[in-house]
Amino acid sequence: MNSICHNLIEIHKKIDQATLQAGPHRAKNPVTLVAVSKTWPAQSIKAAYQCGQHAFGENYVQELLKKQEELSSLPIEWHFIGHLQSNKSRLIVNVVQWIHAVDSLKLAKRLSLQRDSTLSPLNICIQLNLTHERSKSGIEEGQLLPLLNAIRMLPNLRLRGLMTIPSHHQTVNEQQQTFKRLHQLLEKANQEGHQLDTLSMGMSLDFETAIQEGSTMVRIGSAIFGQRQYNRKPE
Ligand SMILES: *Cc1c(COP(=O)(O)O)cnc(C)c1O
Repeated sequence: MNSICHNLIEIHKKIDQATLQAGPHRAKNPVTLVAVSKTWPAQSIKAAYQCGQHAFGENYVQELLKKQEELSSLPIEWHFIGHLQSNKSRLIVNVVQWIHAVDSLKLAKRLSLQRDSTLSPLNICIQLNLTHERSKSGIEEGQLLPLLNAIRMLPNLRLRGLMTIPSHHQTVNEQQQTFKRLHQLLEKANQEGHQLDTLSMGMSLDFETAIQEGSTMVRIGSAIFGQRQYNRKPE
């Protein structure tokens, strides 16, 4: 067995353990694993696919398109998890199933307009910047309800949930509070009539904590594929 398969099995074990520890209510809301393949070649994605991993996350538009071309024979579920500039939305809006980091009405409107209406609606999450980091995209808490209310009216999109990335300057305990806060915001939105079912939170180093706080979708890269060889700047 190759190391990617081995890592996937280990991660699934940990996800199951964390889900059990989080209590019986978690059974209703299983955790989806999105394998984050940024910087890794199509070959690595193929290896993971052959071990049963079918959802993959990419951060950069050109990198995603190139890999899709190489892997066109595989029915992969593609997640765009990086910051998406509005002027690039057209390039990917009809080739991915999920966009995790929607952070403006302008972007949502473009996605809605550009999404081919014969495809199933595009699943989207709103990214929140709960740690107020300048370097990070995402909206502030106070902007959430107005944005959700506006996006709800748009065709061809399916509003699924919320996404966040805690700061690596935070302690584990502070990161846990950040995850908890995202969960509270989702419940608050649902009390206001939204029907969000997705909390996209948790990465290689913190996914177990995120699951304890209600994550339904973890985005994991290095724990599956290994340490990234280089860190690219966003496009
Ligand atoms: C890179 C990335 C991940 C995966 O990070 P790892 O620490 O390698 O698991 C998850 N989410 C986003 C938005 C990313 O950019």
